[in-house]
Amino acid sequence: MFHSQEPLFLRSKYISLDSRQIIEPKETAFFAIRGVHHDGHQYIETLYKRGVSEFIVEREAWSPYMAQKAEKWQGVDIYIVENCIDTLQKIAQKHREEFQIPIVAITGSNGKTTIKEWLGQLLSVQFKVVKNPKSYNSQIGVPLSLWNIKKEHEIGIFEAGISKPGEMPKLEKMLQPNWGILTNIGEAHGQNFSSENEKLREKLSLFAHAKSIIFRDKNGLKNQVKAYLNEINPKIEYIHWNTEDPENGIYVHRKMEKNTCQLRFKKQAQTECFLEVQIPFTDEASIENCCHCAILAHFLGLSQSQIQQQFRQLKSISMRLEVKEGLRNNQLIDDSYNNDLDGFKLALPLLQNTHKKEKVIIFSDLLEAGLKDQTLYQEIAKEVSKYPIKRIIGVGENLYKHQELFEGIEVFRQTEDLLQSGTLHQLHDAAILIKGARKFNFERVTAQLERKTHCTQLEINLNAIQHNLRYFKEQIGRETKLMGMVKAFAYGTGSVEIAGILQNQGIDYLTVAYTDEGVELRKNGIYTPIMVMNPQVNEFDLLTEFGLEPEIYSFGLLRAIDEYSHTTGKNIKIHLKIDTGMKRLGFDIDELPQLCAELQQMPQLWIVSMLSHLVASDSEKHNDFTEKQVSLFEKAGREVSEAIGYQPIMHISNSAAIQNHPKSRFDMVRLGIGLYGISTNLNEQRALEPVLKLKTYISQIKSIKENETIGYGRKGTLAGAGKTATLALGYADGYSRKLGMGKGFFEINGVLCPTVGAICMDMCMVDITHVPQVNEGDEAIAFGGKVQISEVAKAAETIAYEIMTNISERVKRVYVRE
Ligand SMILES: *Cc1c(COP(=O)(O)O)cnc(C)c1O
Repeated sequence: MFHSQEPLFLRSKYISLDSRQIIEPKETAFFAIRGVHHDGHQYIETLYKRGVSEFIVEREAWSPYMAQKAEKWQGVDIYIVENCIDTLQKIAQKHREEFQIPIVAITGSNGKTTIKEWLGQLLSVQFKVVKNPKSYNSQIGVPLSLWNIKKEHEIGIFEAGISKPGEMPKLEKMLQPNWGILTNIGEAHGQNFSSENEKLREKLSLFAHAKSIIFRDKNGLKNQVKAYLNEINPKIEYIHWNTEDPENGIYVHRKMEKNTCQLRFKKQAQTECFLEVQIPFTDEASIENCCHCAILAHFLGLSQSQIQQQFRQLKSISMRLEVKEGLRNNQLIDDSYNNDLDGFKLALPLLQNTHKKEKVIIFSDLLEAGLKDQTLYQEIAKEVSKYPIKRIIGVGENLYKHQELFEGIEVFRQTEDLLQSGTLHQLHDAAILIKGARKFNFERVTAQLERKTHCTQLEINLNAIQHNLRYFKEQIGRETKLMGMVKAFAYGTGSVEIAGILQNQGIDYLTVAYTDEGVELRKNGIYTPIMVMNPQVNEFDLLTEFGLEPEIYSFGLLRAIDEYSHTTGKNIKIHLKIDTGMKRLGFDIDELPQLCAELQQMPQLWIVSMLSHLVASDSEKHNDFTEKQVSLFEKAGREVSEAIGYQPIMHISNSAAIQNHPKSRFDMVRLGIGLYGISTNLNEQRALEPVLKLKTYISQIKSIKENETIGYGRKGTLAGAGKTATLALGYADGYSRKLGMGKGFFEINGVLCPTVGAICMDMCMVDITHVPQVNEGDEAIAFGGKVQISEVAKAAETIAYEIMTNISERVKRVYVRE
């Protein structure tokens, strides 16, 4: 049934905006959102077939064709609205209004997620808490989070983030917070705001109807805050704290100890402290975050001893979820952080999305205050049962007690029992999710499953990749398509993993150099269109069988694929490469008339796109040449499209050109090195995050006497007597011989250590004379910490591309998510 009005309520239990993340289609309402490179309306029919029966769609994107199809669907509600996000927000607002629980809203530039998570942990001794999952704090994240409020909840803790003016009032309307926390105001998201003041006012509008606001009074912030809030919410209570002036609001006295900090809180005009706690952190940011949390907890009525006890157990939330290669071809998802019900629900889809067919969960008793054990484990069993999981392994007394809730579970009362049982040795070719509360020491489980504890590894930061991708998407805007270059093992980082991420982020195209690389992607669940740059004539069968699209760069190839399409009766998608100055592959400009004439005789070939490659887009002194290439390409595009009667997708820009030559973006850009956080444009380099970290470790430490030499050919010497470390990284791993003799540096315990002597095949030596407290087994970072890849490239007289693609296969790739 079609509804031309917004729904007042939804009958579904869950809301989804992402067709891939729907777990219970029958109980999910789908909002078709249009993003920069993505349109939810495309998935409606598929979702209907999967069982979704409640849809919210946008009038402008809802085609008569779809309407005609959907007319016949039984038991389906389709709401046709102007803007799905507006509707989502209204529904979230109504949902919030149904539950008259107090809500704490947190905004500011830094620390929002940490404060939210910590408050969640603190307040859970007293209240049943609902909060945003992860950092769901946007115009979409907040309504989705609010939808999680249920009748058992007693308090909500939500963070609110904005990126441009006008967004906060919308969040305010939905959240209607009673309590506010304004965290440290910094630089993040500064570009879209005309001044610091505007940004602050926008943030404060979150508290337009709040009862109280907590903030740290620093650099005159109090006056600014009051100046604005007096206008919009004169009755608000100011709870401000500082560390300098005992007679201004709440005064916090800090005393550092070895690994802890003692905090004493005192109110103005009182001599006694009202709260005293010890926290397990000593860094400035964590202390500030703790102060906000402790003060709010106090005002919400928690006792000194409750607050103290909860602080002692506070987990640093920087613990990362790691995906690692395990022994026997297992893949490990190590997720010890967030050992509560929400964390569990979030980790299961990650397990589901891995490429391994068999899934295994190893988990311990959960630490979830607020729920009765029976209810908690019933909930978990229900979550787990939604997924096809081969083996469920539980550890702990509580799981032991409730084992009948889980079908086929293998339970151990203690971690030691699991380790002794031999069960872990039986696991192979599986994706294994490991979630253990801290006291169960699941590091030991991971260690038994991991390939080696100590090894040289290339760490790939998936969050940084997502950040960089987002940066480029913002640069090119929604009209321009994006092609991800995953050739050469995705520049050394792992094609399947990177292609998987790009696919999840809705990339339009992927490109590999050779057919094999494309086949590998297809075999691992990559369904995004793939262009192959260097197809061979004898591989056309393989290409078409796996739905790969060849780049055609010569008459030889063109005629061969034409013939192939005739003999097999297949229509084939191709990409035409034009040479505008690279002199590598492609049809020359003076071959265009001939090319056009032949293409007109080949209507069964569909020219999806035309491309060319820029020679020097990163170099200003060749700007004229680049412009010439661009205009030749434009001309070639016109000629071909006139001849064939339609317009192929045009693309010539590589990473460097996106920023340096916006005119070259045409319909699509090809993103390569930029994705990995490398740019020769300084501003851009600052906006990107480094993705790669090459780490090894110290195998042995040697004391060197004066006049002794180090390594082959007696080439290495120190300035006098000193110490060297032998590292497990050599030229066979991809660490160039050019980096020997002090040209390359490793970061060890934060100190840069030059190489000494020649680089060997599997090892190298560095000078650690001046590194304090260094031990065998310590980590040594070749790049990705203080040393940048581009610096290594320069020292090795090459470019970052070569450094990255030379890292040999035997170096283990580890994917980390923050
Ligand atoms: C590798 C490659 C790119 C990507 O180049 P980056 O400089 O890494 O962005 C683009 N186009 C072609 C044809 C390529 O071979």
